[in-house]
Amino acid sequence: MLCPSFKQFASTGTSDSLKDDDDLTVAEQLQKANRNLKWNHNGIQINGDIAVSSRPTKREADPCVLHGCTWLKDTDGKVYVPYVIANHYFSQELDLIKRAMDSFSSSTCIRFIPRTNQTDYLYIQSLEGCFSSVGRRGNGQMVSLSRRGCIYLGTVQHELLHALGFNHEHCRSDRDQHIKVLLENVIPGREYNFNKFNTLNEETPYDYDSVMHYGRLAFSKDNVSPTMMATHSSNAVFGTATQMSQNDVDRINLLYCSKYHQNNSRQKGTRRKGRIQEKCR
Ligand SMILES: [Zn+2]
Repeated sequence: MLCPSFKQFASTGTSDSLKDDDDLTVAEQLQKANRNLKWNHNGIQINGDIAVSSRPTKREADPCVLHGCTWLKDTDGKVYVPYVIANHYFSQELDLIKRAMDSFSSSTCIRFIPRTNQTDYLYIQSLEGCFSSVGRRGNGQMVSLSRRGCIYLGTVQHELLHALGFNHEHCRSDRDQHIKVLLENVIPGREYNFNKFNTLNEETPYDYDSVMHYGRLAFSKDNVSPTMMATHSSNAVFGTATQMSQNDVDRINLLYCSKYHQNNSRQKGTRRKGRIQEKCR
């Protein structure tokens, strides 16, 4: 079992507003890029940076990983995730997006590949803000990587992890053992960002350094009062990742690349190892 690492919070730390975007953590970049994102964005409902179908389906109400929202493993053991990238990105932005995709290839069995004729694929485009659905949704599914604030390695990894079926670390089922959520400090109406999900967390430790963990000021009503606090220490720092942690990588391997994962679409009801989403939103 790995032990999460902790950094002590420095009360003299730099104010977010004084940082360059390059210096922001993924959680800060998401918060900044999505600050004006509306709950209903062009017909798509957005929870934080998670896109929710405006027309709930039966599948959406089901535990999605156990019912086929992961991507399929090919006979060669790789999991190919087709993508289309809109043509409005500059070459440096495309390079960054592809570098983020390559970071999955170098450490997991996930391979993001340009779409040819596959039915299910990611459609990456620059809408307002950064957001993605959780898991494979069927047909072309939107991943918004706004050119204004989302084109950073860790932020792209974060949205791709959502598309692979992972939710936020601070929303996993056992989070109350690790963080205390201070709803009284949350912007009224944004409390849903701290809903817990019925995740399966077998063999994976809670990870304060996951790229999927928001920071202590996420959705703070005054950007001063913390909305989350580590249970073991009120001044422990978390949610400061700038790219995937080793745990993030391990979870992909557990969910997709281990021998337990064979062909998920045909294994309804089969319990597999790894941190698995039971509910897709
Ligand atoms: Zn997210």
